[in-house]
Amino acid sequence: MKIATPYYLIDEKKILHNLQIIQQVHQLSGAKSVLALKCFSTWCVFDLMQEYMDGTTSSSLFEARLGFEKFGKETHAYCVGYSREDILAVVEFADKIIFNSVSQLEKYYDVAKSKKLGLRVNPGISHSHFDLADPARKHSRLGVTDKDVLAKQIPLLSGLMFHYNCENDDFDAFSQQLDAIGDCYGDMLKQLQWVSLGGGLYFTKEGYPIEKFSKKLAEFAAEFNVQVYLEPGESAITGSAELVTSVVDLVHNQMDIAIVDATVEGHMLDLLIYRLSAKVEVDDFENHKYMVAGRSCLAGDVFGTFNFKDKLEIGSEIRFADAAGYTMVKKNWFNGLQMPAIVVRRLDDTVEVIREFDYNDFKNSLS
Ligand SMILES: *Cc1c(COP(=O)(O)O)cnc(C)c1O
Repeated sequence: MKIATPYYLIDEKKILHNLQIIQQVHQLSGAKSVLALKCFSTWCVFDLMQEYMDGTTSSSLFEARLGFEKFGKETHAYCVGYSREDILAVVEFADKIIFNSVSQLEKYYDVAKSKKLGLRVNPGISHSHFDLADPARKHSRLGVTDKDVLAKQIPLLSGLMFHYNCENDDFDAFSQQLDAIGDCYGDMLKQLQWVSLGGGLYFTKEGYPIEKFSKKLAEFAAEFNVQVYLEPGESAITGSAELVTSVVDLVHNQMDIAIVDATVEGHMLDLLIYRLSAKVEVDDFENHKYMVAGRSCLAGDVFGTFNFKDKLEIGSEIRFADAAGYTMVKKNWFNGLQMPAIVVRRLDDTVEVIREFDYNDFKNSLS
């Protein structure tokens, strides 16, 4: 069966590889993992993921509701700013509600107190290569910074959430950060039941020292007598999807340029935001070099420059790797271009076209 491009192809076997590492960390350390839905909300594979993970965490009412309806298990609800309507809705199904500030906790405590409540802490440390994604940047609004103010809230809480990493694959750096958090907040943690260490830990990366990582988490849990949670987003689904496209035109402007039936702006937006190149599996020594670009009106809508084995032709297929995290959740209808379908290769190798988008979806996204 030839599927019409463009489409996102999710491979369950590749997700499974990550999930098995997450399960191993749970078994070795006792740490639970909840999927960060802001990274990946493509719920057609949640039946598989929920067998290996303990639930979901969220950034909004809608994500929390999706986690509850489609993933199940534990539903952690976090949001940078809840409205009263949000809280009234979220208390109906969330297991834990995590507030971003003391003012939100105080405002909604009476409505939310039947749930386990947490506060996000800004420990003033972070590991991020980008200012945009650095929760410890100057004037950061993400989490409580004042330790004395935090200490006064402990009687209202059952846990704390720290999220201060972004694609951190350096175990030694993580280990030092965790020691710093233990030194600074250990007395408070001893009065609580759980702590979330957030996402951004790249522990499913090949070569990451899983045993050492698990031991560190287990020691932390034992020292402060808390249930540790991790909130993997990218680590849970890394390497598990491709954006499959076809060349629609070939042009030349000092170099060969292939235009494909997708767009960076609409279908892999993070590449533009973080100024990264897409990944295409090609051998470096191949000698047919092309700039591969999208078909939106944006001059800088470029996936990258790659060396292909064969000359490209109209209709040639080009697959961009790493199209799961922060990709489908950000897709948009800019330029009214055909939205990629969502396709899954199941564990038994059957390929299912889960969802196709058409003109009506574009029309209905606005009014
Ligand atoms: C973004 C985010 C995550 C997930 O981060 P990844 O880098 O995808 O692992 C987890 N928790 C919180 C609070 C977040 O904001």
